Amino acid sequence: MNVLILGGTSEARALAAHLVTDHDMNVVSSLAGRVSAPKLPVGAVRIGGFGGVDGLRAALSGIDVVVDATHPYATTMSTNATTACRLVPAIPLLRLHRPAWTIDPAWHEVSSYEEAARLTASLGERPFLTVGRQELPRFIPTLEDHAVLARLVENPTLPLPERWKTIFSRGPYLLDDELTLMRARRIDVLVSKNSGGTYTWPKMVAAAKLTIPVVVIRRPPGTPDVRTVDTVEEAITWVLRHDPDVH
Ligand code: NAP
Repeated sequence: MNVLILGGTSEARALAAHLVTDHDMNVVSSLAGRVSAPKLPVGAVRIGGFGGVDGLRAALSGIDVVVDATHPYATTMSTNATTACRLVPAIPLLRLHRPAWTIDPAWHEVSSYEEAARLTASLGERPFLTVGRQELPRFIPTLEDHAVLARLVENPTLPLPERWKTIFSRGPYLLDDELTLMRARRIDVLVSKNSGGTYTWPKMVAAAKLTIPVVVIRRPPGTPDVRTVDTVEEAITWVLRHDPDVH
């Protein structure tokens, strides 16, 4: 049984660990290669884009099933996986989709990064941007003169405005640390994706405790025609169902 996991998330790593360790499966985890020192999953790993749908389809040779466990905002990869797995002969595809956080009515929900930037500019002077390195350029024109604190996994690829500061870390985070950070940096507005999960949730709690407004970029639509599960356990069950050796 050869499983391809499209990864880059904690759930993808947990799934790979279970399938390899508990079920002795051949798992290849695929990472985009955005981070120079990624947390590596158990099992085989390939790194870098496939080269669109055609490249992905070619990479599926010998693969029995695919689990798309990418981040909920990684929509291009999910769309490509849907298309590539449907080409004949079709390959079973599962979407492991981390559930969104329940929306707090106090949050300011927006549909685009540009809208988030405009709203953030009107809500505070010292925003805390936690949207990832790739999205930063979309905030620069509007927040150039704000005292932005951007939390990143690694250095941005473009120069940031003079007043912007960066900190480098990756989750999971603790509530006490988030409170300390937001107080110390005098954060007055938080900007986040609706990432779901527990790793980055403490910043949302900290903002609520400190009565800091929160701007949330709404979740992009999922892949409605693809079998979707919320949890790693359900994904394991699905993979095992496709394993002829288990029956
Ligand atoms: P994306 O916009 O959906 O994908 C852009 C391109 O990056 C894809 O077309 C593909 O290139 C390549 N790619 C993406 N994920 C890949 C994977 N797992 N393996 C191989 N190639 C991949 O993705 P993204 O938002 O840039 O996210 C990139 C990675 O970071 C994903 O693996 C995701 O799980 C992880 N991540 C994303 C976020 C986020 O907020 N977006 C947060 C945390 C982690 P080709 O077309 O050349 O195949």
